Amino acid sequence: MTRSGFVSLIGKPNAGKSTLMNYIVGMKIAITSAKPQTTRNRIETVYTDENGQIIFLDTPGIHKAKNRLGQYMDKVAFQASKDVDIVVWLVEPTTRISQNEEMIAENLKNTDKPVFLVINKIDTVKPAVILEVIETYKKLLDFSEIIPVSALKGTNVDDLKETIFKYLPEGPLYFDPDTVTDQPERQIVAELIREKALFDLDDEIPHGIAVVVEKMHERKRRGQEDQSSYSKEEKPEKPDTGYLDDSTVVDINAVIVCERESHKGIIIGKHGSMLKKIGSEARKDIEDLLGCRVNLKLWVKVRDKWRDSDIMMKNFGYDMKEVRIDEK
Ligand code: GDP
Ligand code: MG
Repeated sequence: MTRSGFVSLIGKPNAGKSTLMNYIVGMKIAITSAKPQTTRNRIETVYTDENGQIIFLDTPGIHKAKNRLGQYMDKVAFQASKDVDIVVWLVEPTTRISQNEEMIAENLKNTDKPVFLVINKIDTVKPAVILEVIETYKKLLDFSEIIPVSALKGTNVDDLKETIFKYLPEGPLYFDPDTVTDQPERQIVAELIREKALFDLDDEIPHGIAVVVEKMHERKRRGQEDQSSYSKEEKPEKPDTGYLDDSTVVDINAVIVCERESHKGIIIGKHGSMLKKIGSEARKDIEDLLGCRVNLKLWVKVRDKWRDSDIMMKNFGYDMKEVRIDEK
C-alpha cells in the first residue's frame, strides 16, 4: 500500500521553501536565493520513497501585491491551499508576527485541510526561542502539527516527511518515481540564469528582470558521434571528465530582459564582464542539472514596464489563465 497526495508549501519569501525542497529531493531543482521572489512560478517537486509519493507545490511567497505581478503571485499562493491534502506553512524562527502572518493565519482558518506549522532555520536560534515561537504561533491558529526544522542542515526533515505521509490518503504514485519536478527544463534553466543574475547584480537592479530561453538544442560533440553505436559491453572506457555524458553538448541561447536602458549597461558590465560572470556561473549549474557540457550564450534586451503588462507576462510564461480564482 502506498500513500500519496499534494502538499502546498506556503510562506513568506526567504522562509526557506526552496531550500527545503532542495534538501528533500537532493537536487538543485527549486531555486534558492537570498533575495525574495526568486521562485516565480509554482514549482511541483515530487518526492517518492517506499511509503509513497508526496507532491509539493512550492508556491511563491505570499506578500502584499505591489503591482500586477505581485497580485498574480498572491493568487497562485492562495490557490495552492485549495485542492491539496496538507498545507505546510514555513516560518522564520521569530516571535515577531507581522500583518502578513496574521493574514495567512486568517486565511488558513477557513481550510478544512490539516495545517502544519514548520518553524525553519532552527540552527540559527537557541532552543528556548523555538519554544517561544511555538507559543506565539499557537495563539494564531490551531495547527495539526508543529515541527521545527533546519532546511539547510536537514534537521528534523525526515520527521516532517514521515508526518506528512501519516496524513496522506492511500493512493497511487501519480508521477514516475524518477521524477523530481514537472517543470520543463527550459524553465528551470531560465530560473538558474535569473538566480545568478539577481545574486551578482546585488541591489543594483531590483526584481525587474526576466530570463527567456530562446533556444535549447542538444548535439553530439565532434569526434564523439560514433560512441553511441557501440554496444554497452564494447563501449570504450570514458575519460573521466566529470560529465555524466561527455559526448553531448547542449547549446543554449537566453535573453535577460530588463526594464531600463540604464539597467542594460549594468547587466552587461564593463567590457561585458558582468554578463560573462553571470553566464559562467549559470553554465556550471546548468551543466550539473543536465549532466553534460553546456554552451551558453546570453543577451540583454530592454522592455518597458513588462511587470505591469498582461501581454508581457504571457510572453514570460506567467499565463493568467492558469490561475483559477473563485470570485466571490
Ligand atoms: P524561499 O524564498 O522561501 O524559497 O527561501 P530560500 O529557500 O530561497 O531561502 C532563503 C535564504 O534562507 C537562503 O539564503 C537560504 O540559504 C536560507 N535558509 C533557508 N533555510 C535555512 C535554514 O534552515 N537555516 C539557515 N541558517 N538558513 C536557511
Ligand atoms: Mg524560493
